[in-house]
Amino acid sequence: MRILVTNDDGVHADGLFALKEALAALGEVTVVAPERQQSATGHAITLHKPLRLSPTRLRDGSPAFASNGTPSDCATLGVLEAMGGECDLVVSGINHGPNLGWDVHYSGTVSAAIEARVIGAPSFAVSVASWDPEIQWETAARFAARLARWLPAHPLPPFTILNVNVPNVPPSEVRGVAVTTQGRRQYVDRIERRTDPLGRPYYWLGGSLAEEAAGAEPGSDVRAVAEGRITLTPIHLDMTAYSALPQLREWDHDSAAV
Ligand code: MN
Repeated sequence: MRILVTNDDGVHADGLFALKEALAALGEVTVVAPERQQSATGHAITLHKPLRLSPTRLRDGSPAFASNGTPSDCATLGVLEAMGGECDLVVSGINHGPNLGWDVHYSGTVSAAIEARVIGAPSFAVSVASWDPEIQWETAARFAARLARWLPAHPLPPFTILNVNVPNVPPSEVRGVAVTTQGRRQYVDRIERRTDPLGRPYYWLGGSLAEEAAGAEPGSDVRAVAEGRITLTPIHLDMTAYSALPQLREWDHDSAAV
């Protein structure tokens, strides 16, 4: 099995190394990842500057490529260039931090998996749903390897990836695996305004989670991971809001002035 490992936390991130180690037993692993932190860069791709694949080594001396591109660029460069188009699976992660609910719109981790699917490679994203500096990488790494073994015989429908979130607990404390829907996560107080030494304002984006419980509907990733379960959320490239179609079709377009 030929597997591409990428991420958005950077090629030397702990989570990527744990993932590479776990997947090495399944076959040939190629690592192509951003040379630096690219979290929350979404699905950006690089069109206006040259992209590089710089050979580097991970902490165990194994070869990898660091790229100046985005996570999505890394998925493309990894599959089409580093692997010459011969790729059976792309795994993006293990991200340090949750990618739950609406987070997927910002997530470089999930976007790299989506980009892989766009260019035809089966893929999933995996994250540990915690900002704790101490992460139990083994739990997510072991689950990612299990999933990578299972997927080839159970291919996902077209244009679909899996978004996996793992609670930050040892493997023995996981309370099972849940197939979930995308929950809601919204941030409040997103802009922090400060003043620089010259008296000019500057800003930090961020904010805290708004009433996470309100977004934790039963069956959602947000709820299940909070309950200590590993979540599997299928994500489709088609973002059409099907529930809005009937209402829009009722509109009398002919009389609408343009
Ligand atoms: Mn990240």
